[in-house]
Amino acid sequence: MLDRYQKEKYVEEYKKAYTYDEENDRYGVLGMRYDPRIIDFFKRHNLYDEKMFEYLQDNTWGVCYADPPKARRVGCPVIRYKGRILGFVIIIPDVTNDFTMFIQVHEIAHGIYAYKHLGKKVEDRKLELLPFAIEKLYANEVQSEAVNNFSQRLDSMVDETSREPYRFALANRDEIVKKGISSFKEVDRTINVLSRKWCKQNR
Ligand SMILES: [Zn+2]
Repeated sequence: MLDRYQKEKYVEEYKKAYTYDEENDRYGVLGMRYDPRIIDFFKRHNLYDEKMFEYLQDNTWGVCYADPPKARRVGCPVIRYKGRILGFVIIIPDVTNDFTMFIQVHEIAHGIYAYKHLGKKVEDRKLELLPFAIEKLYANEVQSEAVNNFSQRLDSMVDETSREPYRFALANRDEIVKKGISSFKEVDRTINVLSRKWCKQNR
């Protein structure tokens, strides 16, 4: 494993690569304060913790969603070393409507999952399940036609040719949505159980 100094340098390099803004030939600035509605949403679903959200916000790059080249970058690239998660960058649009909030909750859920597994190895398969569940909980809450249509369109893009994390997430999301989330620990345990079941069935 890298020592602390090497680790920081390694993570910094990746963060720079992920936030390089080609168009303006400069690096995006990390650090975004989330909309209070976003914070409330995660509080309601028992995934809020002040220290973690400070970290998440410090590692978020807000991009302009109206700008197509930047919109394509939306995501949560995870920085790993020998399989262990060392850091991540959350790249999200600013909140302007229900639609951008839908995208935010998905990507922030990626950040929460990565944060809780910092320093650990995680199978790729598990990475999309929490974000898929969270976005569905959000869509159920806002009851907006545009959000529902978008959510359905995303779901319909997942088929047998999709990468495993997406197939696993779509097939298992309702397990989590039905029960709700009482804590990260509990949802993490559920994800691990579902993943083991999936492995047995898909061997
Ligand atoms: Zn995702």
